[in-house]
Amino acid sequence: MTNIIECKKVSRTYNPGENEVHALQHVDLSVNDGEFVCLSGPSGSGKSTLLNAIGALDTINSGEVFFCGQRLVDLNKAQLSDIRLHQMGFVFQAYNLIPVLSAQENVEFIMQLQGIPTKKRSKLAKDMLAEVGLAGMENRRPSEMSGGQQQRVAVARAIASEPKLVLADEPTANLDSSCTKDLIELMLRLNEHHGITIVTASHDPAVIDIAKRNVQLQDGIVINDSGV
Ligand code: ADP
Ligand code: MG
Repeated sequence: MTNIIECKKVSRTYNPGENEVHALQHVDLSVNDGEFVCLSGPSGSGKSTLLNAIGALDTINSGEVFFCGQRLVDLNKAQLSDIRLHQMGFVFQAYNLIPVLSAQENVEFIMQLQGIPTKKRSKLAKDMLAEVGLAGMENRRPSEMSGGQQQRVAVARAIASEPKLVLADEPTANLDSSCTKDLIELMLRLNEHHGITIVTASHDPAVIDIAKRNVQLQDGIVINDSGV
């Protein structure tokens, strides 16, 4: 099996000095291609910090993070954004859609950055929106969609680049139980039928239950990993 993520003794301290917070302490985590992992643990346990370290959205103080065998610290800014753009997809709690763009345009946005020609990206975006159950809603703006639908647009956007890995931080936090169920089924389908590796941070029992591997954090330490 191919290794996608390797964290070795990763530590992240915020505000070094007086009010320092040890958000991650010597975290080891190895994720293989095709896994569906949930980072769980109470608020403040370090889930987002770990997700951000894996997605190269934040730096770490010590230890090493590897993505597909490449040590992130060895890569320059351009190489890191290239990895984020082409090989990773991100889903956030607050959806993070661009309010003035339609669903279609939000999904196309990433493909535009990737230099995919207009016609091709228009078709791909339409297909992605259909894939997440939003056929017919291409022209709606985020304000004209429910939270569940907005999160589906965010998922369509995340998978538009055909990433190896999707990182999802509390993706169900703002969804009711029925939308949560739909979103989880969608994530499972992406994992099982499209082979996308998923690492999500969540304290939602519905997400924890469905994930095939649960990595439990507490005070920045992995206290349990069902996958090892
Ligand atoms: P979780 O996602 O599990 O709720 P976080 O990774 O967001 O946890 O936070 C872990 C710890 O780091 C918490 O104590 C939090 O208050 C602290 N923390 C997170 N981000 C920052 C920041 N930018 N500056 C200072 N402290 C932070
Ligand atoms: Mg968090």
